[in-house]
Amino acid sequence: MTTITVFKGDGIGPEITDAVLTILDAAHSDMTYEIFNVGAAEYEKNGALIPEEAFTSFEKNKVLLKSPITTPIGKGFRSLNVTLRNKYDLYANIRPAKANAAVSTPFPNVDIVTFRENTEDLYVGIEKQIDENTVHAIKIITRKASERIIRDAFEYALSHDRHKVTCVHKANILKLSDGMFLSIFKKIAALYPQIESDDKIVDNVCMQLVMHPDSFDVMVMPNLYGDIVSDLTSGLIGGLGLLPSSNLGTGYAMFEAVHGSAPDIAGKHIANPTALLWSSCMLLEYIGKNNIASRIRRAVDEVLSEKRYITPDLGGNASTEQYRDAVISHLK
Ligand code: NAD
Repeated sequence: MTTITVFKGDGIGPEITDAVLTILDAAHSDMTYEIFNVGAAEYEKNGALIPEEAFTSFEKNKVLLKSPITTPIGKGFRSLNVTLRNKYDLYANIRPAKANAAVSTPFPNVDIVTFRENTEDLYVGIEKQIDENTVHAIKIITRKASERIIRDAFEYALSHDRHKVTCVHKANILKLSDGMFLSIFKKIAALYPQIESDDKIVDNVCMQLVMHPDSFDVMVMPNLYGDIVSDLTSGLIGGLGLLPSSNLGTGYAMFEAVHGSAPDIAGKHIANPTALLWSSCMLLEYIGKNNIASRIRRAVDEVLSEKRYITPDLGGNASTEQYRDAVISHLK
């Protein structure tokens, strides 16, 4: 029995978390959960976005399933995600974007995994007002952070039967910073002769992703490009609503949907739990329960293909609970 930590979050967070945990139980995932309320509602009640016991639980269990939270506005908060990434050195943000039967798009064959470096680049947030009309922002790229994310991308390609890793950069302009990222990529690529590798400049990547999305497989890049390019890949598959993600570090792993807390539909029982469910499949794979993840993925694919019980965001009229039950009835 594996124990994981679960953050319930705000808005649709509690509804989609309940649906996902029910499906995980129905699939006999053999996990127990330490569940915590985190986020804006928790802050209003108890004065902290994340209660101390929730941190302690994550530090003990090392694996976290996190549902979205509402970022309190105007209270000087650092994003909770940035806090978690930095506190637990969750340096690899992995976003798989795979076309699916429920959402028809002009790009039916998209199957791309983005590896985004999560801890440095312009996101270190070091800005300096030089004078009234000039601001400098510092971009930090280090060998250590670049090596580990690039190596992870190749290891992932190897273990997931992927054939190619593309390095995305702007080394033609940023010759030192992106230049170092690229040269590290080339050195590491040479250690994986069985995996094809290439590199492309980020602006070209944006065009090529739309013109020839099937020429991409796994991509690895510094933080800022990863933020933008992974949203582009979400657009190719029909939006953020079906996008899971993992944030991995050396000791800790956090899995979450890419979308937010959707306050506009909270409590209406129409939220689509698929992105969080797919995130939980990534979690199951991370802890070695690949068979259970495959069974859940297959059941979801069948329900989405049938289009009988799909939620309103995908054009259906099923409730979160009807969709949940449909997935459970397809578990084999
Ligand atoms: P959002 O992703 O919450 O919602 C955008 C639109 O997509 C809304 O119309 C919403 O109803 C819909 N939507 C999102 N997820 C859905 C789902 N699972 N099923 C059906 N429809 C869904 O983005 P937003 O409105 O910009 O942000 C709302 C709050 O979420 C903000 O406070 C923001 O800061 C926060 N947020 C949190 C995270 C996170 O915790 N990881 C990520 C993004 C945004």
